[in-house]
Amino acid sequence: MTPIPYGRQDVTQDDIDAVVEILRSDFLTQGPAVPAFEQTLQAHCQASHAVAFSNATAALHIACRALEVGPGDLVWTSPITFVASANCALYCGAEVDFVDIDPRTWNMDPQALAAKLEQASRSGRLPKVVIPVHLCGQSCDMRAIGALAAQYGFKVIEDASHAIGGTYAGEPIGNCRYSDITVFSFHPVKIITTGEGGAALTRSDLLASRLRLLRSHGITREAGLMQEPPHGDWYYEQIDLGFNYRMTDMQAALGSSQAKRLEQVVAQRHRIAQRYDSLLADLPLQLPWQLPQTYSGMHLYVVLVGEEAGRDRKAVFDGLRADGILVNVHYLPVYRQPYYRQRVSCDPAQFPHAEHYYAHAISLPMYPGLSEAQQDFICERLAFYLA
Ligand SMILES: *Cc1c(COP(=O)(O)O)cnc(C)c1O
Repeated sequence: MTPIPYGRQDVTQDDIDAVVEILRSDFLTQGPAVPAFEQTLQAHCQASHAVAFSNATAALHIACRALEVGPGDLVWTSPITFVASANCALYCGAEVDFVDIDPRTWNMDPQALAAKLEQASRSGRLPKVVIPVHLCGQSCDMRAIGALAAQYGFKVIEDASHAIGGTYAGEPIGNCRYSDITVFSFHPVKIITTGEGGAALTRSDLLASRLRLLRSHGITREAGLMQEPPHGDWYYEQIDLGFNYRMTDMQAALGSSQAKRLEQVVAQRHRIAQRYDSLLADLPLQLPWQLPQTYSGMHLYVVLVGEEAGRDRKAVFDGLRADGILVNVHYLPVYRQPYYRQRVSCDPAQFPHAEHYYAHAISLPMYPGLSEAQQDFICERLAFYLA
């Protein structure tokens, strides 16, 4: 039997045609396809601006720069995330710290955040930016986090790499009602793909213009931003130190084509999740729990192997892998990464829920092309290893 991956892109003939059309056109990059994709994202998410990037890591880096994160600043995020959610702060010379997760949603716990903020405010070490991560596609409790941002005066970047197509309190994730910037990833394992790719959304005209400036070398062609009157039509000025973090037109065309199926793809992911929920209901597992008023993008379906189960997580994981079911673990707490252990003095005992999650979590295969027969097989084998 061919192995079953944990995630896989869904590419149709229409997607292929859209990319080929760009290859035959005048512009492979910096043509009309990128603004068109940005327009699609902005309209879908009901934000004021969408800025496409070469990947979500670049978007997170520039989001931090746009919010003027620099040496001496503190950035807090969730320990249960991909390293990029924390690396973006280190790129800016800032320091990183973590906030423990809610044991039911596995997202940053607003109560733990409130307690840590209260302490930090007493010691004068408040964060400049907090980066909540919508793990598996489920929104964090953004109303609570937004209220704390207003109270303590920090900025918020939502790392919504898992979450495009999801909603919070009836509104699309990405509309930035409770944040300054929201970032999406379009890596092939995520919900829709551009190959490599990412985007940053915002309501702020100023932040949008900084995101665009820093995406492309810090170079502007807008006379209003220049120091000198333009010398002629050729003239541009570099007014900040930016990067080349642009998305190509090939990628953007793929993204626009994929985005047409966004709702459909997320609905299909939910059907798969509901089927897992019922097939796994009687096993010694903690299944995903959804906060009221959230509709997940459903990037990942994670289960925690219960303490009462016959075997531990590693035995279950190894058994499933040997059966060709390419389960995964998302994620090792970032403070346990060797690079972070040397730089961030974090006692794992400060994060009991992240530690518990990491010790028990397994990500089961979740992607639109997963068949019912494959899903039945996965659940049968899981039941076998838990018996
Ligand atoms: C995938 C991912 C990223 C990085 O996305 P890229 O597009 O691969 O750079 C950042 N944060 C989280 C939570 C992710 O899952």
